[in-house]
Amino acid sequence: MTEVKTAELVMVDPIESSELLNSIAETVSEVELEGEFIQGVIDRMLEIASGKGHDEKDSRQVVGLAAPQVGISKRIILVDLTANGANQEQNLIAIVNPVISEKSRDLLDGREGCWSCGNVCGNVQRCQKVTLEGLDRSGKAVHMILEDFVARIVQHEVDHLDGVRFPDRIPEDQPKRLHWVEHEQFNDYR
Ligand code: ZN
Repeated sequence: MTEVKTAELVMVDPIESSELLNSIAETVSEVELEGEFIQGVIDRMLEIASGKGHDEKDSRQVVGLAAPQVGISKRIILVDLTANGANQEQNLIAIVNPVISEKSRDLLDGREGCWSCGNVCGNVQRCQKVTLEGLDRSGKAVHMILEDFVARIVQHEVDHLDGVRFPDRIPEDQPKRLHWVEHEQFNDYR
């Protein structure tokens, strides 16, 4: 894995990389986190999420990203802490070894799309509030209570680290929750 040039990482193809996307990602060790490789992965994830390397016709904003989506099976996610569903300035931070330590009983329905699910979008039930713990990229412990849309992002991204994508969260007897959305409709869909 260390032979991978982090600057060359791209969003993986959901079909070609389905095995990786369906796998449980590895915990990042303290030593690894200090190293060049993981720091490079985080830099590249931030770069990809900022819109570099994407089709200009596709205006989808990245509000969250998980390392397996760029081909790295490690427990790293990006979360936009001020995202509210509208296109706006990003405020992305990296969380390493994220754990959702508490979840509200209250559930909320909301629309989700995913870079690793192509045109498939869906209405997914998520906890309204979560407590997120983990490390920031410098290894400092992070403890945050997040609600609504940001809580949704965190649940979606942590799921990626366990090989779970949002359609897996939609009950089989509720297929109407899944939708096909063309790229130019993404902004309106959200
Ligand atoms: Zn996703």
